[in-house]
Amino acid sequence: MSIETLANFVDGRGCPPASGTYLDCENPYSRTVWGRIARSDAADAEAAVSAARRAFREGPWSRFTAPQRGAMLHAMADVVAAHAEELARIEVRDNGKTYKEMLGQVKRIPEWYRFYGGLADKINGAVLPTEKPGQMNYTLHEPLGVIAMITPWNSPLMLLAWKLAPALAAGNVAVVKPSEFTSASALRFAELMTQEAGLPAGVLNVVTGLGAEVGAALTAHKDVAKVAFTGGVTGGRAAYVAAAEKLRPVSLELGGKSPNLVFADADLEQAARGIVSGIFGSGGQSCVAGSRALVHVSAMETFVARAVELTGKIRLGDPMSADTDIGPVATPAQFDRIMTCIGWAKKDGATTAIGGAPVSDPSGGEALFVAPTIFTGVWNDMRIAREEVFGPVLAVIPFETEEEAIALANDSDFGLGAGIWTRDISRVHRVAAALEAGSVWVNSYKGGSQISPFGGYKMSGLGREGGMEMIRDYLQVKSVWLNLADEVAYPFPL
Ligand code: NDP
Repeated sequence: MSIETLANFVDGRGCPPASGTYLDCENPYSRTVWGRIARSDAADAEAAVSAARRAFREGPWSRFTAPQRGAMLHAMADVVAAHAEELARIEVRDNGKTYKEMLGQVKRIPEWYRFYGGLADKINGAVLPTEKPGQMNYTLHEPLGVIAMITPWNSPLMLLAWKLAPALAAGNVAVVKPSEFTSASALRFAELMTQEAGLPAGVLNVVTGLGAEVGAALTAHKDVAKVAFTGGVTGGRAAYVAAAEKLRPVSLELGGKSPNLVFADADLEQAARGIVSGIFGSGGQSCVAGSRALVHVSAMETFVARAVELTGKIRLGDPMSADTDIGPVATPAQFDRIMTCIGWAKKDGATTAIGGAPVSDPSGGEALFVAPTIFTGVWNDMRIAREEVFGPVLAVIPFETEEEAIALANDSDFGLGAGIWTRDISRVHRVAAALEAGSVWVNSYKGGSQISPFGGYKMSGLGREGGMEMIRDYLQVKSVWLNLADEVAYPFPL
């Protein structure tokens, strides 16, 4: 089989890496190497940032009016929609998630470009009142410049859209560093946006390779005006520290250990369905996976029995098949991580209600699968209840009172999402207000929109993505003072 070689995408065209070295791309289902991506370094980061900076300062993009930027984002939305199947297939080949999930995601991406495209010509400053006679003061809301966007492997193009759409609407330019495991879709996306949507060269650049190499070079680059990062805590912290050296703003969308609180009065059938899909959808490879279920002691037996029954029906297999619910684990390293976490739970005395082991590839191949796993008898201080697994593992923890449930939910380093399952409307509002989480779902789990802010409390992140206000994170404000008097105020002898 021939191997595809993918170059970086810089200044509107393919650019081989300065070092001439590449990284293999493996399909996690077939376990075959289908291609290779550039292993970029600081020289490639420099070339991409320079191209972006030229586009920002001198290129056609710098002369786009706000309505023209809006129209460009709508054109980008149309091109994504027209290529949704192709882009989804590329993502499945790299991360092993099901085609139906990735296609669903890619089909929603145009909504982000349309929403922020609609906002492009609604960014305005104000004429401000002033107490100084003969003075006028107004504000200009200006783009920041080159934004470094660093993205993970689980939802590559969707998470890029969360950053790129508002950044471009505000007039910025981008250098994207996708995950080393899923770079192909961002490269194809950049090519399509330039060739079919007409995005000027240099506005969107993609450099591939390792986070510790080209990712670190970008976050530390003096001409990067902001870093927008999605990934794990370790990489996020490194990006934050590098940007701090240059006093640049950073947004971080990181991981979670999100709880679902199941109260005694909940509809347990709906709770079981919502929680099973909230953890095992995407094979648990989702930042907001509901990986802890806090269940009232009186509901425990019924809830666990139904959750186990539903989990037993989940089908593992070929991610391209419509009959598959969970594809293979994305990488061997992630498989090892999941199995390590399962090992902690067993060692700490949790009870395996279902799963807890690898599953051999149903097609007889070498793809790595982990059985959807539910542990009961978990206490919140066990490692399985504290660390993000990023795999199909649910920890079930009992509680007796509402106060205890809230305390357990909040007793976490993370604070990304939370679910509340109850029919008591007063409790809904009390508990939603008390939870330390960026998103709270009531009698459902997961779901979101470009219209609504998403992000984390505590170590789940900094800042929000989505919603109208966040476009301000890609703008800076200039205050302009005009002297309308005939003479300037002069304090010294004339
Ligand atoms: P990683 O943090 O390993 O990687 C994310 C990105 O950061 C990759 O492109 C990676 O490069 C890069 N990176 C790593 N180290 C550095 C560094 N020192 N400097 C600059 N860039 C760096 O996360 P994963 O890809 O494994 O994704 C899973 C994580 O992402 C989970 O923790 C998950 O919860 C989180 N996530 C959060 C979301 C949210 O919106 N809150 C959404 C989706 C995922 P490379 O890997 O190529 O070396």
